[in-house]
Amino acid sequence: MEILLSVSIFILGTIIGSFLNVFILRYNTGASFQGRSKCFSCGTTLSWRELIPILSFVYLDGRCRHCRSSVSAQYPLVELATGFLFLGIFLEFPFTLTAGYILSSVFYALIGSLLIVIVAYDLRHTIIPNLCVYSFIALTFLWLFIDIETMTLVNPSIISILAGPLVAFPLFLLWLVSRGKWMGLGDAKIALGIGFMLGIYGGFSALMISFWAGALVSVIFLALQKKTALSRAGKQLTIKSEIPFAPFLVFGFFLVFFFNLNVFVLW
Ligand SMILES: [Zn+2]
Repeated sequence: MEILLSVSIFILGTIIGSFLNVFILRYNTGASFQGRSKCFSCGTTLSWRELIPILSFVYLDGRCRHCRSSVSAQYPLVELATGFLFLGIFLEFPFTLTAGYILSSVFYALIGSLLIVIVAYDLRHTIIPNLCVYSFIALTFLWLFIDIETMTLVNPSIISILAGPLVAFPLFLLWLVSRGKWMGLGDAKIALGIGFMLGIYGGFSALMISFWAGALVSVIFLALQKKTALSRAGKQLTIKSEIPFAPFLVFGFFLVFFFNLNVFVLW
């Protein structure tokens, strides 16, 4: 029963993920949200068999069935990520058939989905959509004042309110001194919501993890670039211009959120 439910939740997540893909692709690009999905190369309207999350991509070998042009890996990756997000929430919070459980699960799913969209949108369009990041900040801030499970108002401590601005501050400072070269303001906005959601220790843990992960990936990236003989000479590699930071922030957030990874305890 538990396994059946887990699989269903995962599949539900991948279906939501395929809707997130549509948003990531079309939001603010002038494209309409109406109308069936089409192949970008040949414009053929895709049938339901070509739109099954993950499976269609794997079955069709990542190519359009009509013109054989390759399909972005963003589709299955976002679907997988959303599937795992839903599964993670389901496993993290033991299932009970109560309004409080359902409300809080939906809330966490919404928060996680917003973050997945932010990351994928940032990777695809190299900008963080304000609609998503402001929704994230507003929801996490409200979350401080409402106990969703019992739907009652709570009085948050000063430190849990300050956690947002404090976690965002280092990134804001990096944005300020580098004039947006090392860090985007959008990254500081994400950190604000992360601080509200995870508190001071959790928030700074997520921040530390994201810096380490970002540094590690940058080093690997640099090493790979040095190895390619054709590396474009003189092209400076900075965290901001080549590697977006939002994915690392969100990676840190999920590690702390799901696994309570607290780097301050490890020390
Ligand atoms: Zn095609």
